[in-house]
Formats: sequence, C-alpha cells, structure tokens
Amino acid sequence: MSYLLVDCCGRSPHDYRCPHATEPQAIYTCSTCREHIFEGEEYYELDENFYHTDCLSEEVAANFIKEFFPVSEMIEVLKPFGIAKRGVARNDS
Ligand SMILES: [Zn+2]
Ligand SMILES: [Zn+2]
Repeated sequence: MSYLLVDCCGRSPHDYRCPHATEPQAIYTCSTCREHIFEGEEYYELDENFYHTDCLSEEVAANFIKEFFPVSEMIEVLKPFGIAKRGVARNDS
C-alpha cells in the first residue's frame, strides 16, 4: 500500500512523529518519582537503585554517602573537593 509508505518517515528507528514509531521501552524504574526510565535515557545508579538524572537529589546522594562511609572516610572522600577538612584546632595568633 503506497499511502503507508508516504506516511512513513523512512527512518530506522522511525521518527517519533511517524505512525510506525513504537513506544520507547521502559528499562528501569526511578527510585525517586517511580516513573519509568526509558531506553536511551540517561540515568544514575546508586546501590542498585536507578534514578533519572534530574531525580537524584543532593539529599539522596548525601544519605547514600552517609550510609556507606563512616565519617572519617567521608572526610577523606570529600577532601579533594576542598569542602571537608580534618585538623587540629590551634590558636595561630
Ligand atoms: Zn517511519
Ligand atoms: Zn525520576
């Protein structure tokens, strides 16, 4: 049927506007919003939980770090970023 060919974008995979386009496949479920993470989408994985890149909040990440690193190690991990330091209090003046 030639009219079907006219309707088709002729691409592989089909353009999303094409009537032949298939729904993207859900691969994972986001642990924050509980929505699907579709094929081709970027995601973060933390301890076998999956997140949309927009859904992994700093709070979730911070809780994750807290859970898996004792405080002393957390300081070591954060040190290179210049936001954590371990020292001995001295009176320099
Ligand atoms: Zn098409
Ligand atoms: Zn999400």
